Amino acid sequence: MTAATPAEKLGAKPAHVPNRKARADVNALKTRERGIWAANRYLILRRLSQALVVALFLTGPLFGVWIARGTLASSMTLDMLPLTDPLMLAQMLAAGHWPEGLALIGGAIVALFYALVSGRAYCAWVCPINPVTDLAHWTRQKLGIQSKGWQPRKETRYFVLGMVLATAAATGTIAWELVNPITIAFRAVVFGATAGLTIVIGVFLFDLVVARRGWCSHLCPVGAFYGLVGSKALLKISAVNRTACDDCMDCFAVCPEPHVITPALRGAPAGASPIVAARDCTTCGRCIDVCSQDVFRFTHRFDPRTTDPAPAVTPTREAV
Ligand code: SF4
Ligand code: SF4
Repeated sequence: MTAATPAEKLGAKPAHVPNRKARADVNALKTRERGIWAANRYLILRRLSQALVVALFLTGPLFGVWIARGTLASSMTLDMLPLTDPLMLAQMLAAGHWPEGLALIGGAIVALFYALVSGRAYCAWVCPINPVTDLAHWTRQKLGIQSKGWQPRKETRYFVLGMVLATAAATGTIAWELVNPITIAFRAVVFGATAGLTIVIGVFLFDLVVARRGWCSHLCPVGAFYGLVGSKALLKISAVNRTACDDCMDCFAVCPEPHVITPALRGAPAGASPIVAARDCTTCGRCIDVCSQDVFRFTHRFDPRTTDPAPAVTPTREAV
């Protein structure tokens, strides 16, 4: 006889939790069973990572200890490590300006890092807009907004990326940086600059009112760019223990790009690898956090495992 799931303990089947209250009760029970840390570790680590990035730039203005100087677009760390946003370099080149050698080296370092590790790790672990859009998503859930709202095609972000480069070529400027919500949010946090903050608020309201996960998953050209850079990156998520999946759908609910989960989790087409191969995956680890069946793991793109070697020994919730 199989162990009762938290949903069943509360008198509901997990895939058909009847209402928001029951859903919240199920999630609270799961979190209690697994512990706050196990249920949120990658979320906590990502927030620490995002805060650390900002803190590296803040120690100079606040305490006179300069660890990183500049901005997310172009910086110098410890007076020896240049880091440049490769998308800004691409705009400069499109605009007809040849960047300085140090900026090119910085761009190569950043591009190489995301190409090897995970392109969209930038979104989950660095970008200051990610907490804003995550907050919008959390607020939608708290308000019980079920509708996805207006959903632009996911490919729209590549069109926006093309427009960013075309605008640079047409104007001879890196015009996108004037309205880039990432640049604006970073300047607001590090330099206290409030100019353009309405754009950041607009992103929040767009995700809250107009489109579920609208900005990051459909429109942002920066996320699209880093996704392309990391198309063959090594760090991956694997649904290696997918035979233990109980169809609670929690991973789909929290994933910023839920379409990437289905092939890995459902194994379709038959025998498909459990590795989340799509470049849209942000390697945020949130699916690992919320899965009470321990289906997901961080792994590398060449991991040959097709299923967990011993899914049957996954601790039951009763055992936990
Ligand atoms: S999609 Fe854009 S705004 Fe969203 S986290 Fe990624 S880079 Fe930041
Ligand atoms: S599959 Fe997991 S790691 Fe990838 S974006 Fe979705 S929740 Fe994040």
